[in-house]
Amino acid sequence: MTKNFKTRTCNRCGWVYMGVSRAFAETEVAEFNDYFKTLSKKKRKHYYNDTPSSIKNYEHCQCGNLYTNFRDAESGDAPWGVTMSSIIHDESIKKLIKKTIKKVNKNFKNTLSKLAKSEK
Ligand SMILES: [Zn+2]
Repeated sequence: MTKNFKTRTCNRCGWVYMGVSRAFAETEVAEFNDYFKTLSKKKRKHYYNDTPSSIKNYEHCQCGNLYTNFRDAESGDAPWGVTMSSIIHDESIKKLIKKTIKKVNKNFKNTLSKLAKSEK
């Protein structure tokens, strides 16, 4: 599953994150918060500083930089095997949509040219 995610590098501090969709981040937040609610007050405080998860955690780098000010990571940005946190990467969806539209257009053009040939 993780190999489908692009790694992203913070333009401000250079920290590397795993790029995830907003929908994925929202699911993670909801799942964590469901779990969080089941914990005793003492455990919430001890393990999580009594703070539930928030979509804001996925929108900001540890340095405070916003997810929109990231670039695709290059090899060497992060040491091999390092544990990565997640950051929202909406662009991956935009690219996917663009790619799909391009493919559909290409198929459409191919179909049109085939039709044109068959009419000759
Ligand atoms: Zn940063």
